[in-house]
Formats: sequence, structure tokens, C-alpha cells
Amino acid sequence: MLTGILIVMTPATVNAQTENSAPKDTQHIPKWYSHASSQYGVHWSLLAGLDVYGATTKPPAGVIRAKGVPIEVTGYRFTQQEWQGLFNPVQNDENAKRIILFEGRGLDGDQDGKADQNNPYDRVSAIAAWLHQGGTTEQDQSNQLWKHFENGTAVERIVALSHVFKYFGTTQLSERTFPLHKRYSYSYRDTWGEGRNFGGRRSHEGTDIFASYGTPVLSTCYGYIELIGWNRLGGWRIGLRSADNTYFYYAHLSSYARGIHQGMIVRPGQVLGYVGSSGYGKPGTSGKFPPHLHFGIYKDTGTTEWAFDPYPLLKRWEKNSQTVINPPKKETKDQPNRPVT
Ligand SMILES: [Zn+2]
Repeated sequence: MLTGILIVMTPATVNAQTENSAPKDTQHIPKWYSHASSQYGVHWSLLAGLDVYGATTKPPAGVIRAKGVPIEVTGYRFTQQEWQGLFNPVQNDENAKRIILFEGRGLDGDQDGKADQNNPYDRVSAIAAWLHQGGTTEQDQSNQLWKHFENGTAVERIVALSHVFKYFGTTQLSERTFPLHKRYSYSYRDTWGEGRNFGGRRSHEGTDIFASYGTPVLSTCYGYIELIGWNRLGGWRIGLRSADNTYFYYAHLSSYARGIHQGMIVRPGQVLGYVGSSGYGKPGTSGKFPPHLHFGIYKDTGTTEWAFDPYPLLKRWEKNSQTVINPPKKETKDQPNRPVT
């Protein structure tokens, strides 16, 4: 998943970029997205968002996901019945005309004579055609997704992920960086599964990175702020979802960086907030433990999220170069520099 192709070799500091200066790299949009998009009038980023969701959550029953193939290929899939039509007597049918006759969703996107769901052109074109049946606007197409998934969270995530792809103009967004500014001092060890007593007996789902108050806390990835505000255990916290649908949980912050808000699209190294010791009580509670960043990683299964040990990944990301993106210098009206509940 790590590209490791960031060119900057030494830590650098740049100012927050504005929306207009987001890099556009059309070289890195898989061709089946642009192909299906021009055929059916569905924005390629929505197709990419659905694919990431499909590739990272549990596939529908009866679908076997190929292993070790890129995200674009393992993306969202229809069930075999949806593809070929419920009453189609030919199993694994690839005949586009017969599939239409039996009202299947499959089609021959690249005109090679087969409607093959393992061919990304056919698969993505079929998805685009189906989304287009819902209508021509993003709202129409998310309603089509809603009818299919019957799960508001799923649809919100797919649309939010598509906005991240649209913003950066590419699907190549797997870069990762360490969640603390590496020029500050910090220390951490593997604390996965250790006992914690506050709020009932539970097991530690993350890594604690100890650092001084005010140490900048950075986005690890390209993604968006899904959650921000106070919770009893985590204090001032941030929930960040990456472009590949991984959830990063940052807890115990002292404050948020200027301009950080829910729904905001972020990139690796962007300052999100500062190390603190908030949490373990009502809003504003602080100082019940030494300052540190609690960092957790969760995977989305489509119905639930499960935690896994961030420690080995932190060790790896720590070796990556880090470009720190500082918040804007001036506070603007819609960018409050304070915790929001
Ligand atoms: Zn912790």
C-alpha cells in the first residue's frame, strides 16, 4: 500500500494549500474510470469511491475477491445473480445480449465480445450504467446507492471518499506519514492490549506516543475529517478516514489546528492539532495522565469497525520522509481555532 515515492528527502515546512492549488494528476486515474465516465455521465471519482468501499469492506455473498491485485481491480462487484440476471439459466454468463434479456446489470464495456465482471472495463461500465439509471446528479446517484446498500453510513463514506479523489484528481493516494512532527521529541512502545481501567475494564486499542504539550499532530494520509469534538475517554479527538477507507483515531489533544473542521479534506503531514492530556471526564477535563497522543487504527467491514495494532505501521511510517503543512496564519470567521463539540 505504501508508495514511498515522495520526492522530498528532508523534512520541509510549507503553508496550507488552498483548494485551487490541489495537484491534478490525470495520469493516475485508471482508464476504465474515465472510459465508463464518458460513456454514462457518472463522475469517475464516484466510481473510484465505490470501488474503494467495495474493496475494503465485506463483499456481497457469493463473491470471491481476488487476492493481491490493485484496489482498482478488486473494487465493488455485483453478485453473480445481479450481473447475469436472476432467471438467467446460463451460469457465469458472459453473453451481453442474453444478460440484457434477463435484466442483469452486466455489460460489455470494452466491446471485446464478453460481459466479464473480472474485466475492469466491463465491471466499472456496468456500475456506471446502473448509477446513471438513478439520474444524472450526484444526489440522484447517491440515492441509487442508498436503495442498494440501505445503509446511510456506507453511502456517506462512498460519497466522501469520492470527494477526496475528485479534490486531488487522482486515485494514487496511499502515501503515509508519521502522526507527530518528527523534529519534536517523542517516545512510544507497543502497548497494544494492555489493561486500562478508566471507563470500565478494557484493553488498549492503540499506541500511546508520549510527547510534550503542543507537539504538532499530523495527518498520516490523504483523507477527510470524519469526526471532531469531545468524547469522555478520548477528550478532544479527531477521527480521520483515509482515501483507502482506514479510520485513524487521534485522542487527548490540547487543541485543534486553525481551520480544522468536520468534512475537511486533508493530506499527509497536515497539522491537525497539538498533543495534550484531555479526556477521562466531562468536556475540558485535562491533566489526569501525562501528555501523549493516543493513536488508533480501525478497518471498516461495512457493518462494524475493528481495531488493529498501529505499532508496526508507526515504526514503518517513521522512516518515511515528512512534509509538514502548517495551518493558515490568520484566523478567519469560518475557521475557529478552538475545539468544537
Ligand atoms: Zn492510549
